[in-house]
Amino acid sequence: MQPASPGPGNRGIRTRLALLALFGVLFLLLWWWEWSLLIRGALALFILAGGYVVQAQLRKLWATQRAYSLAMEAAHDGFWAWDPVSKRLDVGARLLEILGYRDNFLPDTHAWLELVHPEDRAHYNRTVSEHLKGRSPYFYCEYRVRASNGQYLWIASRGIAVRDRHGVAYQMAGSVTDITERKLHDDEVAFMAKHDPLTGLPNRFLLAEKLLETLQQAAARHEHVALLFIDLDRFKDINDSLGHRLGDRLLQDVAGRLRGALHASDTLVRQGGDEFIVLLPGIVDGLQAEARARQLLEHLNQPFVTDGNQLHVGASIGLSLYPDDAADAEQLLRDADTAMYVAKRQGGGQIARHTPEMKERVQQRASIESSLHRAIEQRGFSLHYQPKFATASGRLLGAEALLRWQDDGQWIPPDRFIPVAEETGLIIPIGHWVLSEAIACLARWNQLSPTPLHMAINLSARQFWPGDLDQTVAALCAEHGVACTQIELEITESMLLQAEGNHVDMLHAMRARGFRLALDDFGTGYSSLSYLHRLPFTSLKIDRSFVTALIDEAGDYAGGSALVPAIITMAHNLGLEVVAEGVETAAQLVLLRDLHCDIHQGYLSGRPMPEADFRQHFLDASAKSAGPAF
Ligand code: C2E
Ligand code: MG
Ligand code: MG
Repeated sequence: MQPASPGPGNRGIRTRLALLALFGVLFLLLWWWEWSLLIRGALALFILAGGYVVQAQLRKLWATQRAYSLAMEAAHDGFWAWDPVSKRLDVGARLLEILGYRDNFLPDTHAWLELVHPEDRAHYNRTVSEHLKGRSPYFYCEYRVRASNGQYLWIASRGIAVRDRHGVAYQMAGSVTDITERKLHDDEVAFMAKHDPLTGLPNRFLLAEKLLETLQQAAARHEHVALLFIDLDRFKDINDSLGHRLGDRLLQDVAGRLRGALHASDTLVRQGGDEFIVLLPGIVDGLQAEARARQLLEHLNQPFVTDGNQLHVGASIGLSLYPDDAADAEQLLRDADTAMYVAKRQGGGQIARHTPEMKERVQQRASIESSLHRAIEQRGFSLHYQPKFATASGRLLGAEALLRWQDDGQWIPPDRFIPVAEETGLIIPIGHWVLSEAIACLARWNQLSPTPLHMAINLSARQFWPGDLDQTVAALCAEHGVACTQIELEITESMLLQAEGNHVDMLHAMRARGFRLALDDFGTGYSSLSYLHRLPFTSLKIDRSFVTALIDEAGDYAGGSALVPAIITMAHNLGLEVVAEGVETAAQLVLLRDLHCDIHQGYLSGRPMPEADFRQHFLDASAKSAGPAF
């Protein structure tokens, strides 16, 4: 805001003008008085000198004023001057222009305060009063003011008070800058920092704030809060096979559908990727929480029609309840996350409520993870080899490499540590070591065996992620002088579920390099025949559970395993070799031979064993002539 006669030193100039008038009066008086010519001359000179000084001061003042106005014009700032005693306000033209008002529209503080945004008034008054009381060196306040078009503009006002010798402010003046654009930009940046740009939902940073706030309210009202951790089941497949653009659109649709199914007091957050978090306050008990979770799951189970594609995503939901399951925000979140993983591992499409046993398992997994890190550094792994035989002839065909880990003198079963290695990504270095070790071992066996043997190596979905697994295995074969056709890569059905999409291309690339591909543990997962049609498998491994069920306790053919002949026939029709896993009895083997099962492996013909034992049993000259012991 601008004073009518702006700039510093106004009072001094007025004093000098008054002095000039006084000198004029004195000059006239002295002229008429009959003093000597000398005195008159001296006085005249004195008055002329005074006049000259005053004129010089005035010129300086006008120059300062001009410079001041120019500077402010260039800075696009508006001026104001305010008398704290009379409350009179002088506002410059630029400020009127910024706000779009006519001249003299703002005669005093009251008129100005009327324009200040009601939410900013208290802050504005406080800042002014602090400065008037001398508690701040200058006045600075950012606040909203209503412009003539009714919209609020953000302004930054700065000023300084002039005080008398008692320190009482008798004038205050300063400038105003329109900062609306900057403020809007700041708001945008603040919004972006706490929201997900794709869906516009709050992100994990805002969740942390919301969660704390919600739990505090719930504690005060003695209510429950449910936290749902939602992870889409088939998003990765859709994203990989139909492209990221459609994946993004689908996430937006999922966000919209979830939002539509929630109450106004609920909070929906995109945690990242295909993970969403829902906070349900005011929950009565666990049953109500589960019912609400089920409702959301049903919404997600309905197909989405995104960009003309009908998509079935489904979801796994982990649920934890405050304060029953966890007493603080962090624990609540972690518990729901753990429960979600359990739901996922149970096949997806489910809701799992957190239980204390889950916590225990998480702790166990954390300890396995840290031991695994140590084992990688200290090369604490080894491989055992289980022989595989042709069922009809009994001829040794090769072996399956099985990972072994001894931690602190204790053997840890692969079923316990491999899932942890897969979740943490440690399976990538471990899996690479397995490939390298098994291929090196086969190279040694090639020196001993008259016919080329096969080495079957198990793979995890995670090993496909880098996208160059075919090259990696081929390079290891080349390094050790082993033919790619001697390597059989075993892939489980559950792995295929996680590794759809681009990984299908990888399987074809592997097959093109000559690697054999086996579908492991057939019958334990979805047993989807569509894999066998679409994917370039060379063999199918019937899971041990089916082999066990072939013969009942009395040693007779058990009707419950009628699936085995069907699987063998179907696999043969598709041109696949059939391997029976976990053959433990001679009766099982005889039956498998009758059913034309091509290959078998199991404790009957040989347990997994260290390389030295394998050589001694199956590759040394004496062993070869003796043949397998069954
Ligand atoms: P799998 O590939 O189906 O391996 C066969 C499992 O059955 C092995 O268990 C083997 O020791 C066991 N087995 C073989 N014959 C018999 C039998 O006659 N009776 C019984 N009761 N069991 C038999 P293991 O070594 O505990 O391996 C378990 C699973 O761990 C494997 O199942 C495989 O999925 C995974 N695994 C093992 N080594 C590796 C590896 O290097 N990489 C990856 N990704 N997974 C591996
Ligand atoms: Mg296997
Ligand atoms: Mg298996």
